[in-house]
Amino acid sequence: MSYIKDFDKTYTPDKQKNAVLGGVLYLVGTPIGNLSDISERALKVLSEVDFIAAEDTRNSGKLLSYFDIKKPMVSYFEHNKRERGEMIVSRIEAGESCALITDAGMPAISDPGEDIVRICAERGVPVSVVPGPCAAVSALAMSGLFTGKFVFEGFLSTAKNERREALESLQNERRTIIFYEAPHKLRGTLADLMKAFGNRKISLCRELTKLNEEVLRMTLSEAIAYYEENQPRGEYVLVLEGASKEEQKANAFWAEMDEFAHVAYYTEKGLSKNDAIKAAAKDRGVGKSEIYNIVMKK
Ligand code: SAM
Repeated sequence: MSYIKDFDKTYTPDKQKNAVLGGVLYLVGTPIGNLSDISERALKVLSEVDFIAAEDTRNSGKLLSYFDIKKPMVSYFEHNKRERGEMIVSRIEAGESCALITDAGMPAISDPGEDIVRICAERGVPVSVVPGPCAAVSALAMSGLFTGKFVFEGFLSTAKNERREALESLQNERRTIIFYEAPHKLRGTLADLMKAFGNRKISLCRELTKLNEEVLRMTLSEAIAYYEENQPRGEYVLVLEGASKEEQKANAFWAEMDEFAHVAYYTEKGLSKNDAIKAAAKDRGVGKSEIYNIVMKK
């Protein structure tokens, strides 16, 4: 028996493992632009479930008819998710199988999918995932920025205060930060990012997997200048460089304090002198003895 044959055998999808079962919610990832990105398993699940819950039945109808799949669909979107979610989960509890698809990409990532998974989790209804493209992860991979650690922020709130608070809370974030954004809000968001983070690197990942796929790797000020001249078009993921160690230090609450004030800050909060020295040393990224020698010298 050759190695290749063995490999093929282990690679052949196990029929039992891939069986579509009643009483299960399948989260099915769908393409974010290029229909060829649909997986074999996604097509099988969509063809075999009892019904499909879709964010936009017209939009998903086009996807299904492209693959010649005819299935009853129910709509499940932001404004009907509460009562529709309950109804869908009750049908699954009664033994039906359901595939959840959203407009594009991985259901439950910045779309109403997350709520129905929560209902299933609360009611002990099995959920199975059929992974597919996700705009955030695809953009991160394309960004050219540090990918080892990242945070996903989804869409920034349009409410002024909430948006400001969210951006402020990210100022010291060392990890790469991912945002989703709509084209008509891009210019405003770039200006807000510049104000909150200064002139950091950003990768603007546009129309991924589509004909006009583009990644602009630039600084925030270059991006602002670019979009003064060019109209933002299509769907965007913004991947922003995290804070440098120096920035983190400069933004820290203790940046203006000397070692005495920093230790006092913690003792006033109720820590013992020793623990306050430890905490201040940790903040400053130095050894405890360094702070100890300074504050105990007098
Ligand atoms: N659940 C989807 C996912 O994670 O892939 C995202 C759904 S969210 C409602 C839609 C946002 O994803 C868009 O506004 C855009 O920011 C991003 N997006 C989706 N498809 C994209 C694409 N082809 N290129 C760039 N961004 C995309």
